[in-house]
Amino acid sequence: MLAQSAIGALTFLRTVPNMVACVACLATYLGVHRSAALKTVRELILAGRILCTYAKCVMCEQRTPVIRLRRRPSHLDSQMEARRAALGTGERIRG
Ligand SMILES: [Zn+2]
Repeated sequence: MLAQSAIGALTFLRTVPNMVACVACLATYLGVHRSAALKTVRELILAGRILCTYAKCVMCEQRTPVIRLRRRPSHLDSQMEARRAALGTGERIRG
C-alpha cells in the first residue's frame, strides 16, 4: 500500500500535461522539502508506478531530471486482480 504522499504525487502527475514534472515542483505541490519528495519518488519507482527521465518540466520549464507516470499494461491489472482475489480467499480460510 502506498503512503499518502505517494498517492498525492500520483494525483499531481495525473493533473499536469504529459504527466511529467520535476522533483522540485512535486515538493512544492506536496508542501514538503526536497528530501521528502525524493523519498516519495523512491517509493513510487520501487512500486513501478513512475519512472525517471531527463526532460523539460512542464511546470517550471527547467530541463532537468523529471518523473513520469508509468502506464501499467492492462494484462498486469488482470494479474493483480487475480492475485488480490487469491489473497482474499487465503485470508478467509485462515480466519
Ligand atoms: Zn519543475
